[in-house]
Amino acid sequence: MIASDLQTAIDRMRELIETSQTIVPFTGAGISTECGIPDFRSPGGIWTKLAPIPFDQFMSSQAARDESWRRRFAMQDQFGAAKPGRGHRALASLFRSGRSPGVITQNIDNLHQASGIPRECVVELHGNTTYAICLECAKRYELDWVRAAFERSGGRAPDCPDCLGYIKTATVSFGQSMPQDEMQRAEELTLACDLFLAIGSSLVVWPAAGFPLMAKRSGGRLAIINREPTEFDDLADLVVRHDIGAVLEPFVVS
Ligand SMILES: [Zn+2]
Repeated sequence: MIASDLQTAIDRMRELIETSQTIVPFTGAGISTECGIPDFRSPGGIWTKLAPIPFDQFMSSQAARDESWRRRFAMQDQFGAAKPGRGHRALASLFRSGRSPGVITQNIDNLHQASGIPRECVVELHGNTTYAICLECAKRYELDWVRAAFERSGGRAPDCPDCLGYIKTATVSFGQSMPQDEMQRAEELTLACDLFLAIGSSLVVWPAAGFPLMAKRSGGRLAIINREPTEFDDLADLVVRHDIGAVLEPFVVS
């Protein structure tokens, strides 16, 4: 059913949550827009103006690595101070209540962790942009360190001092393979849930598209909160096209 108005959406969502044992949220860019982080893929989003740098270019070109880091630091100045929104806080409340074992996210903004969900309970399908790793030895680098090296050298992306590998944000770029561990954990969570909450994702980008179907096939119920219709609306037990923050705010327990 498609919730006709905000109150119906909240009532029906409460009913679903109260009658579920294992709730697994799956989140996309829509949950973070109220935090000031734009949806890069949406019309007018950054990626429609500035083509993303594919992984093979990052690996083969110093200029591409320099440009990639230049863009990342520009983003840091714009969105680096973003705080969790009502949606994040509601999901953290569900987690604390013991009924949600973890969150699957397409987002790279670290806001689920910032809302209080432990790092090991956040499955990040596209990685995390708030720190960097060496692509050779996997050593972790903080953005401040990368930025200092970048600025010291006049805008050159630094290499790993230990092994000379390339240092990249811990995100999954276009053309980079999906993290297998994360995919498997996402699948396990999806199969274990009796309520799958798809929030703020158009559910188009693979592998996002596979999970709602997997949840339904294994007997779970499906609720979709997204501004735009999705391909899975007909399958869903509840479809909400209202503002995510407004729908989830009543579920924030502080
Ligand atoms: Zn290294």
